Amino acid sequence: MNDLIKLTALELADKLAAGEVTSVEVTQAFLDRIHAVDGRVHAFLYVDDEGALAAARAVDEDRAAGKSLSRLAGVPIAVKDNMVTRGVPTTAASHILEGWIPPYDATVVLKLKAAGMPILGKTNLDEFAMGSSTEHSAFGPTHNPWDLSRIPGGSGGGSAAAVGAFEAPLALGSDTGGSIRQPAAVTGTVGMKPTYGVVSRYGLIAMGSSLDQIGPVTRNIADAAALLEVIAGHDVHDATSLPDDVPAFSQTVADALAADPNAAPLSGVRVGVIDQLAGDGYQQGVLDSFGAALDVLVSLGADIVHISAPSFTYALAAYYLIMPAEVSSNLARYDGIRYGLRVEPKEGPITSETVMAATREAGFGLEAKRRIILGTYVLSSGYYDAYYASAQKVRTLVQRDFASAFTKADVLVSPTAPTVAFPLGEKISDPMAMYVNDIATIPANLAGVPALSLPSGLSDGLPVGFQILAPAQQDARLYHVGAIMERALGAPLTDASPALEWEE
Ligand code: GLN
Repeated sequence: MNDLIKLTALELADKLAAGEVTSVEVTQAFLDRIHAVDGRVHAFLYVDDEGALAAARAVDEDRAAGKSLSRLAGVPIAVKDNMVTRGVPTTAASHILEGWIPPYDATVVLKLKAAGMPILGKTNLDEFAMGSSTEHSAFGPTHNPWDLSRIPGGSGGGSAAAVGAFEAPLALGSDTGGSIRQPAAVTGTVGMKPTYGVVSRYGLIAMGSSLDQIGPVTRNIADAAALLEVIAGHDVHDATSLPDDVPAFSQTVADALAADPNAAPLSGVRVGVIDQLAGDGYQQGVLDSFGAALDVLVSLGADIVHISAPSFTYALAAYYLIMPAEVSSNLARYDGIRYGLRVEPKEGPITSETVMAATREAGFGLEAKRRIILGTYVLSSGYYDAYYASAQKVRTLVQRDFASAFTKADVLVSPTAPTVAFPLGEKISDPMAMYVNDIATIPANLAGVPALSLPSGLSDGLPVGFQILAPAQQDARLYHVGAIMERALGAPLTDASPALEWEE
């Protein structure tokens, strides 16, 4: 094993800038790691050796020529396979897009390329990002690097497992109801969902357009801040993209860490514990880890306040009406005619309608079909008011609960997920059991506020995630509090990580 894979993205960036190592060497080290271990992890759906090394060579040449380069130039990254990559297969883990080669790059992918970051490959996910375990991938599940018999979370289990198994120093995820944060929680990584509109969704294969947001998956807070700086910013191709300049998130982390750790670095920070997001349904080990992390916050000088957000009790139900409504509309474009799979009916006439029906029957998995049917139902004229319109009202109440909570607290906190990683197969045939995994992450998507998950320790040898939420466009607060907490808690992905013990 090459020790370069143990370094964080910013440590690699420093070595690259100092000329101690080349991007080709770093990129090759991660490709070698992928080829050695991904047969067991299955974090990747596609590995782009050639493209990654070509990008690495280009950035090495630019550096040798003295060109001014971005902070993360030369550091490779993995990208969730629901972000389109020009000339590189993009499937969203669905048979319906098998064989499709996108003719364009998502805005985030263009930004990675402009920053000189080689793309190692495309990571596994639940089909169209629908799920909490990556078991809904049409191409087989991803395995958790902490225990290969367990789920890596979902939908972005591939990105989280790639980082957790040291197959990539960084990855991109997308979060509609928790798909960056819950996988981060169960793999001991850091996952961040920015404020809705901070990162362009152009080229992100849409699931629930009013909820979807791209964000970083990393081994620590400083790397997450540096990566968000690369991918954030206004984009004319996304009408919901915010016009504001990108704050200097890395500077926020540097300033937070400059404070004396023993001099109450969080004094004056009001931390709100959301009553509705801990208690029934949460594993004792998760609650213990959460409680211990609150004690650490107090020791760092923070003031703990208790917050009641009554509407959060209905957030999961509202999400499972609004999200499928948007899914049913977004997935209407897979018609077997414009791109991807095309299946003709075995008998009867070949018309656009029969081709569409046969293609969708063959191309979508069970979970995608379940949500399309549910979404079509809640939008139908007879049920619209009872379901979809009621859910939108709950969404407004969730937004109001956040607004009121943020008058009493600077940040809110909760466990990221109610359980640690569960065994593969345990919840696959019980959709409701699967859906409750996102009970703590969904409110942030309904309100568009930023949220971050960082590891708060282990329960029975498995990682537990701690969630921090901030008001819209106050993403920097997550980095400030997160960096100070991380230093006090210690990161679980160290030289002693189980994934590094594997025989290669
Ligand atoms: N697990 C949630 C769902 O199945 C969230 C998915 C996501 O954030 N993409 O909808």
